[in-house]
Amino acid sequence: MSAQTPSGGPLLDGPADPEHDPRASYALEPGYVRALTDRLVATTGDTSPVESPLNGQPLAHVPQSSTADVEEALSRARRAHEKWAASPLEQRTEALLRLHDLVLDRQAEICDLIGLEGGKARKDAFMELAHVALTARYYARTARDHLQTRRVPGLFPGLTHVQVNRVPKGVVGIISPWNYPFTLALSDGLPALLAGNAVVIKPDAQTMLTALLGAELLEEAGFPRDLWQVVAGPGREIGPPLIAGADFLCFTGSTATGKVIASQCAERLIGCSLELGGKNPLLVLRDADIETATEGAARASFSNAGQLCVSSERLFVADQVYDRFVDRFVARTEAMTLGSSLDWSVDMGPLISQDQLDTVTAHVEDALAKGARVLTGGRARPDLGPYFFEPTVLEGVSPDMTCFGEETFGPVVSLYRFHDEADAVARANAGQYGLNAAIYSEDGRRAREIARQIRCGTVNVNEGFGATFGSLAAPMGGMRQSGMGRRQGAEGLLRYTDTQSVATQRGLRIGPSFGLSQEQYAKLMTTSLRVLNKIGRA
Ligand code: NAD
Repeated sequence: MSAQTPSGGPLLDGPADPEHDPRASYALEPGYVRALTDRLVATTGDTSPVESPLNGQPLAHVPQSSTADVEEALSRARRAHEKWAASPLEQRTEALLRLHDLVLDRQAEICDLIGLEGGKARKDAFMELAHVALTARYYARTARDHLQTRRVPGLFPGLTHVQVNRVPKGVVGIISPWNYPFTLALSDGLPALLAGNAVVIKPDAQTMLTALLGAELLEEAGFPRDLWQVVAGPGREIGPPLIAGADFLCFTGSTATGKVIASQCAERLIGCSLELGGKNPLLVLRDADIETATEGAARASFSNAGQLCVSSERLFVADQVYDRFVDRFVARTEAMTLGSSLDWSVDMGPLISQDQLDTVTAHVEDALAKGARVLTGGRARPDLGPYFFEPTVLEGVSPDMTCFGEETFGPVVSLYRFHDEADAVARANAGQYGLNAAIYSEDGRRAREIARQIRCGTVNVNEGFGATFGSLAAPMGGMRQSGMGRRQGAEGLLRYTDTQSVATQRGLRIGPSFGLSQEQYAKLMTTSLRVLNKIGRA
């Protein structure tokens, strides 16, 4: 089976013949691949293969970085940061706005590459580039407000002038995953650049080309080339030297790896933000619009074949609407189109790898062996491609089953019936994670009250995940084992800065003057403090 492209763009004039040219790809022009991989700081001479999950065929052999390469990338980035930090804010915001237009202009090429490397349906690939555009525009338009120096009240009103500056951290390390390889490589880095930092990024090996295309677009948009360094290699080897030389680390990936990263950052006392896993609940209340809930739940459970950190893996449905909802949800799931095409016709592509297929298969087999029922799906589909697994709806999942509390990260969702809402909230809150939740109800006010009781960093009402994910002014991230720190909003930018307080003392010095003794000065201070408290000053 060969991948088809709708773009007819520069990507696929090939195919080249990998049997005769080891650097060639079945789907991509060798020159195109080389222009991307030349951006890597990687001198070991070793390469790692990238294969397309659409058909298992090779896409590229990606040069690998050594510890010395990571150190070289860090020092190039540091030099670039020093110049960049002195650049006017307008130069940075203009580059962001150019990037906004560039990703929209080059969308066919970006979607092709995301589809070829990750296997995801084109609609999900488009969502990635739309998220990059949204992020670029949001931060460009709000930069001045977030980063401007602020006046704050001083010790002696009128006499102590205090300003708080926002200073870039320096070099930000980013370690990003494969599941949303375009936006998770770029969108966390954009606010870092805007604040005056440089970035050294280690993308996941499976989706390196997509991340490198992001680097190319950044340069085209006007960011200096050295400001964004890309290194490649196994996380266990490349992570430690990156953390050893960075001033802040932004990590997106599994909770297990997040804990390793956090402890390495703690050793150096550098900050980190961790965007980790989830076992996200979706609640359908008794007054929900069932059509809206069905459509939303299907998208929330099966976007990118469920390989989405904020996707719903647990559906809690009110007794009164359970049967109606389940009938429609199963029918909606069965109507989905599965396929390997790069065009818009596909609802769901394959999983990304054999590892993912093994995990998903193991979760479903374990649940079935322990008494769960499959309402639809439940099988791998090797007839469609090497890593396909059907969108799967389970009933009767119990706490002894792996998929009850562990993240499957695949197209498998469990249905649970509830009688009262307090019980549904308690079950939604059970377990270690707290990333994202969704509530479907016609009563928005009531849904928002329930949202406050849910211990997740984002809660969407009458939508699965897109309302918070696409609202860039809203911080996004996990509670509990789902993460630390936030992307998006002011917090997503300010994490890459330190505050610096500069206080200028005028007129009166701090300490006795005008011949006052220490005791008289203490008395004067006591009176002043009482007066300031009485008049309500902070
Ligand atoms: P992973 O933790 O295995 O890998 C993520 C990245 O970390 C990759 O680049 C990998 O090479 C690197 N890495 C692995 N071990 C490392 C180590 N010891 N030191 C340094 N780097 C290391 O995660 P994954 O399985 O590839 O990705 C899926 C997970 O990511 C899921 O749990 C998913 O929920 C989570 N995720 C979370 C978000 C979010 O925003 N919260 C977004 C996407 C994915």
